[in-house]
Amino acid sequence: MVARLGGDEFAILVTDADPNAPERVARYALEAIERPLSVNGLDLQVSASIGIATVPLHAQHADGLVKAADVAMYEAKRTGVGFVVYSQAQERSSVRRLTLLGELRRAIADGELELWFQPAVDLRRGEVTKIEALVRWRHAHHGLMLPTEFIELAEMSGIIGPLTRWLTEETSAVAEELTQSGREVVIGANISVRNLYDTELLEFFDALPSMPGFRPGLLEFEITESELMADPMQAAVVLRRIRDRGISIVVDDFGTGYSSLAYLKNLPVTGLKIDRGFVSSMVSDSSDAAIVQSTIDLAHRLNLEVTAEGVTDQRTLSMLTDWGCDFAQGFWLSRPVSRSGIESAIVELNRRLRHVAPFSATERAHR
Ligand code: C2E
Ligand code: CA
Ligand code: CA
Repeated sequence: MVARLGGDEFAILVTDADPNAPERVARYALEAIERPLSVNGLDLQVSASIGIATVPLHAQHADGLVKAADVAMYEAKRTGVGFVVYSQAQERSSVRRLTLLGELRRAIADGELELWFQPAVDLRRGEVTKIEALVRWRHAHHGLMLPTEFIELAEMSGIIGPLTRWLTEETSAVAEELTQSGREVVIGANISVRNLYDTELLEFFDALPSMPGFRPGLLEFEITESELMADPMQAAVVLRRIRDRGISIVVDDFGTGYSSLAYLKNLPVTGLKIDRGFVSSMVSDSSDAAIVQSTIDLAHRLNLEVTAEGVTDQRTLSMLTDWGCDFAQGFWLSRPVSRSGIESAIVELNRRLRHVAPFSATERAHR
């Protein structure tokens, strides 16, 4: 029996005693759903996520059965694997997720989110000219939570819209404060691809140039390569609109998202950030070194600025400088610090750089 539960949700009831029957039906359904459709000459493909639960193994009654299947479906959606069979572990993590989700809605209004900042060094000048804003959630029970624990949740639930709006307002305010105190830096803010399809948020971006204290040129959005490449044509249109408001755009985690160079050429981006997976191992792994060096060349030939993230030792920093990389960021330079620590972190790092090859005076004389 096939029923429509509402919206784009359907249920299939399989009354077959064969324990393999549900998976067989799931595979068959996925195959049928994913077959391309031709609509007005366009080939369209629909995807689906299926959760499987069984009576009496996972539930005793219809209500429990639907709930368990729903939990498993959510897991299938999250992991993108097609179909998933229910397990208790998913239930526990889904309860935690649902609780967090409810709390996250309030967290923004209650001021529980805070921004930390990680300095990035301009390798041509040997000093900090950029900082990246990284969100944290000061949670009453879980302590200081990292974005990896809640951003995905925010993306799936639509909270990412208000979160990015808050992030943009906060970073703009911090950029203005730092400028006022004579320490002008560009601030990088991470946005999600979902944000590019949110009309309300885009209208907010449109209005940014007229917001009091907004400084065009000091805000830079970072968006991961894999997300951009999901629909590069549509992204190009929206990114152009954002850039026209005086905001720079950087492709984050470059090297992990299978960019088509043809698309990259047409995207209105200003820079690339090489994924830290390549940077952190480039000293010991010659293939990673080759990838990093070629990416720097590629970026420059496309007129893009390039940042290497995940710099964890001095040797990496010297190699990047030799290769003409524009910016570097990483724990060895500075860890992310809270708002109150940012000024001193910048001063301290600038001071340290004066004693570090290749930025020290003696080293420069040799070049
Ligand atoms: P990302 O944009 O790649 O940010 C860099 C992450 O790498 C940060 O983790 C930072 O603390 C960490 N990192 C920096 N240098 C090093 C290093 O040398 N070694 C290692 N092992 N790690 C380093 P964090 O703060 O946990 O952020 C994780 C991800 O969460 C970010 O990755 C970004 O994709 C996302 N994110 C952070 N803040 C926001 C936000 O405000 N909005 C959205 N949508 N996503 C955010
Ligand atoms: Ca980033
Ligand atoms: Ca990154």
